[in-house]
Amino acid sequence: MTYARVAVPVATGQAFDYWAPDGLGIERGSLVRVRLANRRCVGVVVGTHATSDVERERVQPVDDVLALPPLPEDVVALAEFVAAYYREPVGLALAQAVPPVRSGVRRRAPAPPSALRLTDGGRVALAARIARAPAMRALYARLCDAPAGIDSDSIVALPAQDQRRLSAWRTAGWVEEPAPAAPAHRVELNDAQRAALDAIDAAAGRFSVTLLQGVTGSGKTDVYAAAASRAIARGGQVLLLVPEINLTPQLGARLAAALPGVRIATLHSGLPDGERLEHWKAAASGEAALVVGTRLAVYAPLPRLALAIVDEEHDASYKQQDGVRYHARDVAIVRARSRGVPIVLGSATPSLETVLHAKGGRYARHLLPHRADPRARPPAIRFVPEDDPAACDGVSGPLLDAIRARLARGEQSLVFVNRRGYAPSLKCTACAWEAGCPRCSARLVVHRDPARLRCHHCGHAERVPRACPSCGNVDLQARGLGTQRLEAALAAVFPEARIARIDRDTTRARGAFEAVRAQVAADGIDILVGTQMLAKGHDFPRLTLVGVIGADHALYSADFRATERLAALLFQVAGRAGRAALPGEVVVQTSFPAHAVYCALAADDYDALANDLLDERRIAALPPHAHLALLAAEAVSREEVDRFLAAAERDAHAARDHARADVEVHSPVPSLLARRAGYERAQLVVQASRRPELARFLDAWLPALAALPGRRVRWGLDVDPISL
Ligand code: ADP
Ligand code: ZN
Ligand code: ZN
Repeated sequence: MTYARVAVPVATGQAFDYWAPDGLGIERGSLVRVRLANRRCVGVVVGTHATSDVERERVQPVDDVLALPPLPEDVVALAEFVAAYYREPVGLALAQAVPPVRSGVRRRAPAPPSALRLTDGGRVALAARIARAPAMRALYARLCDAPAGIDSDSIVALPAQDQRRLSAWRTAGWVEEPAPAAPAHRVELNDAQRAALDAIDAAAGRFSVTLLQGVTGSGKTDVYAAAASRAIARGGQVLLLVPEINLTPQLGARLAAALPGVRIATLHSGLPDGERLEHWKAAASGEAALVVGTRLAVYAPLPRLALAIVDEEHDASYKQQDGVRYHARDVAIVRARSRGVPIVLGSATPSLETVLHAKGGRYARHLLPHRADPRARPPAIRFVPEDDPAACDGVSGPLLDAIRARLARGEQSLVFVNRRGYAPSLKCTACAWEAGCPRCSARLVVHRDPARLRCHHCGHAERVPRACPSCGNVDLQARGLGTQRLEAALAAVFPEARIARIDRDTTRARGAFEAVRAQVAADGIDILVGTQMLAKGHDFPRLTLVGVIGADHALYSADFRATERLAALLFQVAGRAGRAALPGEVVVQTSFPAHAVYCALAADDYDALANDLLDERRIAALPPHAHLALLAAEAVSREEVDRFLAAAERDAHAARDHARADVEVHSPVPSLLARRAGYERAQLVVQASRRPELARFLDAWLPALAALPGRRVRWGLDVDPISL
């Protein structure tokens, strides 16, 4: 009799014993189907034993072993590390590493074409048709933008309707499968790129961390591709993590062009399950030499892993904010260490954590100080007052003039405001009333088309009142600026301009983002309005002006990382201006042009700012000079939250004394958003100057926390929170 200890994906569970019928070939890492309280689920075998502490009669059998390769030992160990480090149930941590199998039994669709592109006939026929059928426009624009064709990954990611369209168009001869293997396109690396490449290459075969700090447009992607190419040529596999794959559609094409003949597997949650499973298998079998994916790809099975790369390593999306709160960059570093392979962290604005390690010599650092395109110059940076009497709906006179000049020259402008909707607040002009969410401690945001007041925290929506519910005054004022209002204001000033807006509202539909991007690239747009979605790596050669409105808000934020994040954002958006031959300009509206973050932008000196911020963090004993754990709790009644956290605080003091851990336990405080979706929220922060002290403290504290009464309280612990 063999017992299998199976980690199952439930919040309470650790791992449970099942008996393993002979012949199933169960081993550590096997993916098995088991029953858990009458529910069937997929679990991961973490060990096999000859005996169990549970009575024989009460042990259930393993139902089935999935017809998939078992998770490799290093992935199981990695998930176990994540569970231990982030204090999460091991079953949940391991569930992240399990490929999507639930629907894996689904009938497989016939193999999709490797790519599809427009034929000349199709271009003409469809151009005539889309005028009458606007629903087809996005797909058509996408095909136009991809003369080499859209690849199979993208095709299967399309809405079902578009996939049906494509097969109909294929039958009609309007799209075709292109002949394979266009000649490889390789750029000649410049000296800085070559030096970085050689350094990365020299590190092959053992663990090391290299920070590749390159200004926006310096050609980091080409260094990744070249480094990957060398690692693959030696028989290795490469893992490339990216923050948000959907926002960087050009990346795949560039990698494919630079790595001819290499099978590239993408892994992200936007892929249909069947496709993701195929890609997972290709990684596991070693067939895919390059795996590109978002944070979940850090768990990809990679038998010949030789190099890991984390692009935009500072990006907050690497930290999972719900469920298992791991940081994929940090987990990738752990994995590289355990596999004895080098890892490269790339960024124009590296996180302070990474900067500190680079300064301390634990990470090697390579700089790409200039834009790769020899014609490109750094943009000119100009600060203009946010409070401008000549402003039109928040857009200052100088910014309007700068846009006007671009329109006259046929160049493109990007105006950036980090709020979607029409206006962030609706206020009564006669009394103090302001529209608030009934379920959250937050203001409702005014939206147009359709006119609604919306809560951006809980999704609550209501009609816009005609009169003040408090005093009856009919003069209600939308205050502040969102993307919709910005779009309307610019349309009023420049009626002839073609304006497009990009934010979460306009890009909800699949393919919508790609369609606008294609339009901009095809020069069909004069002014682009949007949120930070626009900051990521897009190359628009005719875009020469970037306007930034409302950035000062970050300076008032209570979040200790707000300035660091603002800096990353500003350097990124500035990097969008003047990518090629045309010089770029950045106009920033601010009331504090002397603030360190703006000075750094003007001087194009991120390092100086990073050093200042590191000093501030050291003085305030904040990360990366300290290590934090955040206990967040919420309940319908404020009293219950307070009672829970007061007890947690008492236990924390006891745990600290018991473990003799050098940690500071802060008193509970309301969360930044003190109420969300009807729940009162508060939190307690524990701070340690050394990581092992924090770990020792948590070992002592967590059992006490788990035993606390408070069944109506939802709570969670966040180790290394990225915001407070
Ligand atoms: P980053 O990711 O560092 O912001 P990219 O990798 O997107 O920059 O490169 C910016 C642009 O520079 C791309 O259009 C790329 O093709 C081009 N580029 C990269 N390396 C070179 C090079 N050595 N010579 C000329 N152009 C290059
Ligand atoms: Zn009123
Ligand atoms: Zn709300």
